[in-house]
Amino acid sequence: MRFLLTLLRPFMIVGALAVSACATHTPTAPDIKLYVFHCGNIEVRDVSVFSPGVNQGQVKSLTDSCYLIRHPKGDLIWDTGLPDQLGSKGQEFYDGLFYMSMPTPLQAQLESIGVKPQDIEWLGISHAHSDHTGNANLFSNATLLMQKEEFDAAFGGNPQQYGFVPDSYSHFNATNTQRLQGDHDVFGDGRVVVKRAIGHTPGHQMLYLDLPESGRIVLSGDLYHFTSNREHRRVPSFNFSKEQTLESMERMEQFLESTGAQLWIQHDKEQNAGIRHAPEYYQ
Ligand SMILES: [Zn+2]
Repeated sequence: MRFLLTLLRPFMIVGALAVSACATHTPTAPDIKLYVFHCGNIEVRDVSVFSPGVNQGQVKSLTDSCYLIRHPKGDLIWDTGLPDQLGSKGQEFYDGLFYMSMPTPLQAQLESIGVKPQDIEWLGISHAHSDHTGNANLFSNATLLMQKEEFDAAFGGNPQQYGFVPDSYSHFNATNTQRLQGDHDVFGDGRVVVKRAIGHTPGHQMLYLDLPESGRIVLSGDLYHFTSNREHRRVPSFNFSKEQTLESMERMEQFLESTGAQLWIQHDKEQNAGIRHAPEYYQ
């Protein structure tokens, strides 16, 4: 081993010089930080609701995730998890199909890294289901970024028909929501981009990140809930449109392949176990 290192040393030094010379001549990449938060636990008593006809009656544990992107031009929170009020005791939903809890409040998690929810400028939610809007009202000083179709469903006459809980985002309306009709580059430098991926709900969207050190990452929203559904492209029975979902899956898979980005599946408990959570961060 020492022999190999000795042989390689001149190349390593040249390599280091090349990197530092390069660094002085290229524009400095913006200082972006990505924090990941635990935003609740979801026990699914029959996982086949996510994969019709497959694994009927099987129980599966999912996690719920929220993210904070700190960019020199502002802060963006991406999804807000289950409501802090659920606490660690939690409760059942949908006749016991789901058991959900929120052991550590998002507000406390943010404050532990010195961030006040009211200071955050942008709120991006992948879609308006209540496991993503649970704490949206904490961020009422922010501008909400939402596809137009999602806005029309969430703030129209019958949001409940889409499985939305309007009380959870009642501090938002047409005046503090930016209605999107496609992809949206949040800070104008291509580093943080909302990606339209409709089908799970009328205006479902995802988030693409290009971090200076950690590289390209896409946050899934609920395009997939766990890895095996991605592998088999299974569409949950409760999705708004199966056809739109499959089209979004195809488009996103092509995007992931062309960019080389990793896909972080927000509800995938096993994948999340390998992702660093706050107070650690990615740059
Ligand atoms: Zn969800």
